[in-house]
Amino acid sequence: MFGALIGDLIGSVYEWNNIKHKNFSPLIAPHGFLTDDSVLTVAVADAFLNRRDLVASFKDWGTRYPDSDWGGRFAKWLFSDASAPYNSFGNGSAMRASPAALLGASLEDALELARKSAVPTHDHPEGIKGAQATVMAIHLARQGLDAPAIRSAVARFSGYDLDRTVDDIRPGYRFDVTCQGSVPQALICALEATSFEDAMRNAISIGGDSDTLAAIAGPVAEALFGIPEDIALQAWARVPKDMGAIIEQLYEAAMPALPSP
Ligand SMILES: [Mg+2]
Repeated sequence: MFGALIGDLIGSVYEWNNIKHKNFSPLIAPHGFLTDDSVLTVAVADAFLNRRDLVASFKDWGTRYPDSDWGGRFAKWLFSDASAPYNSFGNGSAMRASPAALLGASLEDALELARKSAVPTHDHPEGIKGAQATVMAIHLARQGLDAPAIRSAVARFSGYDLDRTVDDIRPGYRFDVTCQGSVPQALICALEATSFEDAMRNAISIGGDSDTLAAIAGPVAEALFGIPEDIALQAWARVPKDMGAIIEQLYEAAMPALPSP
């Protein structure tokens, strides 16, 4: 789950300034910052861990971090009295869902938590599916499945085309904030990677909604490879105390990553 925040931090400076290559430096730019992806991932974790209502948690964390580069429709919902979902299929449901993968005792359980994390706003079937496909990839990686096995399981579950490569996607890829136009691409960036850092570089290199692509690829790559300590420490130094406390609580509560049967 911390991989989502790291991806957000890395991608934050490229969302409005796309690049189409992997050789950017440094990995975490000094002016990188945690955006809505991180705030809402923490909000989901807080709601599940502390039995808070999800809508209340979103609004609480949104108010604490009002300048987080919010998506337009979500901002309207967040800063109003609205509490009803708005049938979104934006990738916000996928970027914030990773805590579900760590807290689900089984794949079924994790998918149900993913659904719950999506529906307060993203109750469109594609919005729910984006969250579930992301959580499924993380959950299976934590169980020890390798990337090809995860690729075929998630493709079967979601109907996403996960057979393309990052090099196939990169030239024609454009900014797309829908789940169906960004979650498959983000998953491929993680599943094709050779390391956590490589997954992050893949996600930035295709352009588009960079912080969110990296925030979706991040927790999948974290589950596959772990996060190198130097990257984790650099990122941790940027995490505010209240968010850090929830992250620590989440890892303490996380279900053990059981080997696959
Ligand atoms: Mg963002």
